[in-house]
Amino acid sequence: MKVLVLGAGQLARMMALAGAPLNIAISAYDVNSDAVVHPLTQQQLGSGLANAIADADVITAEFEHIPLPILEQCQQSGKFLPGSDAIQAGGDRRLEKALLTRCGVASASYSVINNEADFKQAVSSLGLPLIFKSALAGYDGKGQWRLKEPTQAAAVWQQMADFLAADSKQAIVVEQFISFNRELSLVGVRAASGEVKVYPLTENHHVNGVLSVSLARQVNEQLQQQAEQKFAAIANGLNYVGVLAIEFFEVNGNLLVNEIAPRVHNSGHWTQQGADVCQFENHLRAVTGMPLGNTELLRPTLMINILGEDSAPAAILSLAGLHIHWYGKAKRPGRKMGHINLSANSLAELKARFAKLIDLLPAVAFPELEQMLGQIS
Ligand code: ATP
Ligand code: MG
Ligand code: MG
Repeated sequence: MKVLVLGAGQLARMMALAGAPLNIAISAYDVNSDAVVHPLTQQQLGSGLANAIADADVITAEFEHIPLPILEQCQQSGKFLPGSDAIQAGGDRRLEKALLTRCGVASASYSVINNEADFKQAVSSLGLPLIFKSALAGYDGKGQWRLKEPTQAAAVWQQMADFLAADSKQAIVVEQFISFNRELSLVGVRAASGEVKVYPLTENHHVNGVLSVSLARQVNEQLQQQAEQKFAAIANGLNYVGVLAIEFFEVNGNLLVNEIAPRVHNSGHWTQQGADVCQFENHLRAVTGMPLGNTELLRPTLMINILGEDSAPAAILSLAGLHIHWYGKAKRPGRKMGHINLSANSLAELKARFAKLIDLLPAVAFPELEQMLGQIS
């Protein structure tokens, strides 16, 4: 089987690693350069989308911010899963919010802003505090503004006015700022038959808007059921095929959807060592029509992102239950360069191993890990 992935980053790379034992060959289409590349070496294999589509059995995507003409061309081939509608819903917050409403899934109250009148209307109808997000192209907390005090309104609007003026396709989705207890995500997979399997809810910790640590452990059954029901509503609503991730806010035992990602997700990287079949393999199984694999947690596992560093102290590799995954990317400040998965047989053992790991890691490159360790209970 030959699978073409739109996007040539670490997610395509990890699909290639997971696909190899199943005899699934991955090539990656770099939408910026129009080149088809090998996902592990980045070596150019060819160019042009039409050739790449003709050569593939199945087409999928590793990110949602893909130009519409490319999505349409892939959709027309009849090989594209999860398909253009799902990718667009993940890449445009207006479509995403409309989808959630259509599927009957709760999220923060919102409105869409195109001009100053919309802005004033939103402030008066939704109330403060508010969070404003670019409708298109936002990730890692980029393209967001927050408004807490009425006195800041004019200044915040001015920034957004400049942003809107620079791109006529853009809009802003404004939401009520949710005072949440925790951020959780659910990664799951849906087959073409409609069969759904989900991983346990994962607890996520962000630093400066970027995911820092994900923890997968024995779940709270009540929350897990809520999450599964919302996952099924959205995945069925899109007739989705493949891995889908849903980010949630937990507010006093209730889940509100923050956003969805129509792809394998950073908060699912722990499944490489902590679950029976990992998210990358399950995505490939779903889109190629193979039976879905077991998504059960094998052992508590946490994932730590490596941001802006292309090396780590060698001593960490001596720790039991530790695996490191590098992405082979050029070093840039703050860039996702790799991740560490750390597993143990119990939560207590995982905390002890995490403490040992923290002692070995440079605190500057891995901030706030001590606090996160303290929050695990
Ligand atoms: P990602 O890299 O996950 O795709 P993103 O840029 O799409 O991020 P969001 O996930 O929408 O952005 O928001 C980033 C973070 O901002 C969230 O993880 C959460 O901590 C905070 N946040 C977003 N929306 C709200 C909200 N309505 N209320 C409170 N906090 C929020
Ligand atoms: Mg996002
Ligand atoms: Mg997010």
